[in-house]
Formats: sequence, C-alpha cells, structure tokens
Amino acid sequence: MRAAIFERPGLDNLKVIDSAEIPKTGDHDVLIKVKVTGVNPIDYFVVSGSLPKLDPIPHIPGAESSGIVEEVGSHVTEDRIKKGDRVVIHNKVFDGTCDMCLNGLDMLCRDGGLIGAITNGGFAEYISVPEKNVFKIPDNLDWDIAASLPVTSLTPYHALKEASLKINEYLLVFGASGNTGMIAVQIGKKIGAKVIAVSRDNWIKSEFGANYIISDYDKVAEQVKEITQGKMADVVLNSLGVGTWDSSFASVGINGRWVAFGGLTGADVKLNVQSLYSKQIKLIGSTGGTRKEMQELIDISPELKVRVWKKFGLENAKEALQSLFAKERDGRILLNIS
Ligand SMILES: [Zn+2]
Repeated sequence: MRAAIFERPGLDNLKVIDSAEIPKTGDHDVLIKVKVTGVNPIDYFVVSGSLPKLDPIPHIPGAESSGIVEEVGSHVTEDRIKKGDRVVIHNKVFDGTCDMCLNGLDMLCRDGGLIGAITNGGFAEYISVPEKNVFKIPDNLDWDIAASLPVTSLTPYHALKEASLKINEYLLVFGASGNTGMIAVQIGKKIGAKVIAVSRDNWIKSEFGANYIISDYDKVAEQVKEITQGKMADVVLNSLGVGTWDSSFASVGINGRWVAFGGLTGADVKLNVQSLYSKQIKLIGSTGGTRKEMQELIDISPELKVRVWKKFGLENAKEALQSLFAKERDGRILLNIS
C-alpha cells in the first residue's frame, strides 16, 4: 500500500512509498481504508522527533483519521462494525484495566499513548486499529468534518467540559480561528455561552457565530472588560502558551476558569497566586477526551463545520506538515488519501 513513512526523525526523511505492507487485522481489530486524515502539530512533532517514544520504526504518522471499514477481525460482531461502515478513529491507545481507564478516563491511561505515535497512523492507504477505537459516523457526514473529530474537535470539547462552561457564561477563546479554536467557538455557542473570539479573522464571527471578536491581541483584557461590563470572562480557553498568558489570565473573572490543552509559544509562565485565590480562579489542564465524549461529538457532528485551507494528496505529506506553520494559513490542512 501507499504510505508516508520515515526511519529517522526529520521532515526530509519522510518518504512516500508504494510498497508498505498492509497492516494485519487481529481478531479484535478493524482494517480501515483511509479517506481523509487531519494534519495536526502532533504529527509534525512525531516526524521531527520531539516525542520520546515512537513505535514501530520505520514509522507512519497520522493521528486523526477517517475512512471506510475494509475488513474486521473474527471477534468483531457485525452489528457493531462491518465492512463498508464509515468510521472515525479515536486515537488513544489504552489498556482498559488501570485506575484511570476504570474511571472512564481512557485518554489518561497509565499504559497508554497515541495512535500515530506508539502505533502506525493514518498517513497511509490502510490502518488497522482495535475495535474499541472505531466509531461509526452518520451516513452523509462530510469527510472533512469526520477527519476533524478525533483531535481537532474532541480536544476543545473535553476542555470546555472540564471547565464546566454553562449557559449565558462568557467564553473567551484565544486563537479562535485555529483548528481547535473554530470548534471551541461552535461548541461554546451550542452550550449557550456568549463567545468572545480572539482572532484577526472576521469569518469566525460572520460564519462561525462568535458573538464578539477581539482582533487586537494587545488589548484583550480591556476589551473583555468592556464587553462583559467589568465582570470579565467566566471561562478562558488559551492553548497559545506564554505569549498570551498575561492577557488571558487578566481576562478571567471572579470564580472563573482558565483552561489549556497546549502551550504553542512556550509553557513557562509567571503566576500571581494572590489573584488566583482571591478571585477563586481555577487553572485547568486538559488533554484529549473520553470515548463517551467522542460519541457525543459524533451525535452533534452534522451541525459542526470546519474551514479547510488546503488539502494535499498523500504524495505531498511533507508539504502538508510544513504548511501547518505557514503565516498565511487560514483554516485546516487535510490529507486526501483515497
Ligand atoms: Zn489504562
């Protein structure tokens, strides 16, 4: 089969070959013919070698895949998954037996990891994954949305649940027109929050429904103050890291929650503990999402949309990864595999 594969870390070592072996389908596995795979920073980190553990070597990246079931293992029952089903892959490897898994927190499994990092991923014509990672999607769901559910949508969805965002609260989203940001805006609206988007792109308001937009990153806190009439935001979602830490923390109101699932510009920040406890602010870290949340997202997925900037063929996997950090980027990057 065709696959983008590398033996040593580095973008230049990623080669597209026709002779990769089609993965075996174990008794409890599902072989999927990949349609569209999302391209995310995690894939870039996998290829560039900044993750501690990769398996197997040579390695196929790709953490966010959708496709059509090609074959199922002998223990997979037809009423659950069968050949021809349209599916997405929940990208967490988990054992199902540790204390985290028993609590339904499979993404925190003590013996876990990511599909596409500790297993081969979806930059390939076929991928084989355990049945428990396979979720059916609605018949007519757009493949671009499907390939944006497991990482791009699940991550902010889980984060907003961790932050207990409620109806009528003010949600402030940094990087609102980024991959996860555009989904956070839509989910915030669905919950019934008043969404303030920090972004230079007006489409996040005109097309994605943000109530307010702040385009000047230097004036976020003062504009939030104006919008909320001094109350400040109830929930602030900021995965941009140290560069926006001060303005994002200053934008959290009394009893507010600050939540992040990344730290794009650097992770070391300075915190004033007094302003944390005196306003009873909660700082929340979030990662991935549960399988239950994956199913909840799939149920509302026909109402979600994504803005796609560029679609590449598998042969241009390297260019797709490079484009992630292009200044002119304006939406998602996807790989059209078949
Ligand atoms: Zn576990």
